[in-house]
Amino acid sequence: MSLLFFLAKNHIAAETLENAVPRIKELNSKGLIVTIDRLGEYETSKKEASKATKEIINILETIDKERLNSSMSIKLTAIGLCISKRFCFRNIKKIMKIAKKLRIFIRFDMENSKYVPDTLDIYYRLYKKYKNLGCVIQAYLFRSFNDIENIGKIKGNVRIVKGAYKETSNTSFQTKSQINKSYRSLLFHSLKNSSFTAIATHDHLIIEDAKAFIKKNKIPKSRYEFQMLLGIRSNLQLKLISQGYNVRVYVPFGKNWIGYIYRRMREKKENFWFILRNVFSK
Ligand SMILES: Cc1cc2nc3c(=O)[nH]c(=O)nc-3n(C[C@H](O)[C@H](O)[C@H](O)COP(=O)(O)OP(=O)(O)OC[C@H]3O[C@@H](n4cnc5c(N)ncnc54)[C@H](O)[C@@H]3O)c2cc1C
Repeated sequence: MSLLFFLAKNHIAAETLENAVPRIKELNSKGLIVTIDRLGEYETSKKEASKATKEIINILETIDKERLNSSMSIKLTAIGLCISKRFCFRNIKKIMKIAKKLRIFIRFDMENSKYVPDTLDIYYRLYKKYKNLGCVIQAYLFRSFNDIENIGKIKGNVRIVKGAYKETSNTSFQTKSQINKSYRSLLFHSLKNSSFTAIATHDHLIIEDAKAFIKKNKIPKSRYEFQMLLGIRSNLQLKLISQGYNVRVYVPFGKNWIGYIYRRMREKKENFWFILRNVFSK
């Protein structure tokens, strides 16, 4: 566990909001915008999901009070989607009301394919009223091109990612080249049709293609940004800033970091070797 925590420290701002705030201010001082993620997912107790809702509202108030240049990313399973869609909807409405008042942008992270239809349905319903709301589309899912077309039709705000969960060949592309091809087609469609596109990847080849597409099609800076995770390719984040692009860093904090770190380790196989080397050298 201690080795895992050593890895986690690179990717997690802190275990408490109080300690995450200085880390966020430091990122802001370098010109990086932030999106805060309160770690926690797949909540099955109503009491805990309500507690998470209150904590998210507290984070919004902290963003406002501390004048952080930050939005929030929210997993709907943290606030009740595993319990019932109606219960989750009530919780997210409470959050959106405060976020609108404080003018803070909210994005629904996208989770396992099982939760995609409900997450998008809640997004479409709330987006009619709350324009400070965005969703995420995962390039590995077969359904995603259809979804990005729908988001384009309502001029939605979308983050495009490759996809971090284990999905089967019934629902998703399984090879890197298929996923990369899908990512590019979603990205180019979104840059032309959505109101805003968050290009969330550490893949420098895709980033270069995005930059070329943006230039060729004269996409204004107000309609896109690059996004990366805390602790990954930090030099590239700063390089993009120096080239005049907007870059947002995804900053998770909290005690429930196991699921998040596990996904990061799966993406970067060398991390496994790093741990194994440490285990066997003891
Ligand atoms: C801002 C942001 C928000 C996200 N939100 C979601 C979401 O809501 N739902 C979801 O399913 N997924 C989400 N993801 C995760 C995403 O789906 C991918 O799993 C993750 O970004 C890795 O894919 P990649 O695009 O960076 O490309 P990859 O092909 O995985 O990586 C490209 C290169 O980036 C570097 N790199 C990638 N990962 C790591 C790592 N862990 N450690 C060190 N170097 C690494 C490596 O050099 C690698 O060669 C998000 C990612 C970002 C950046």
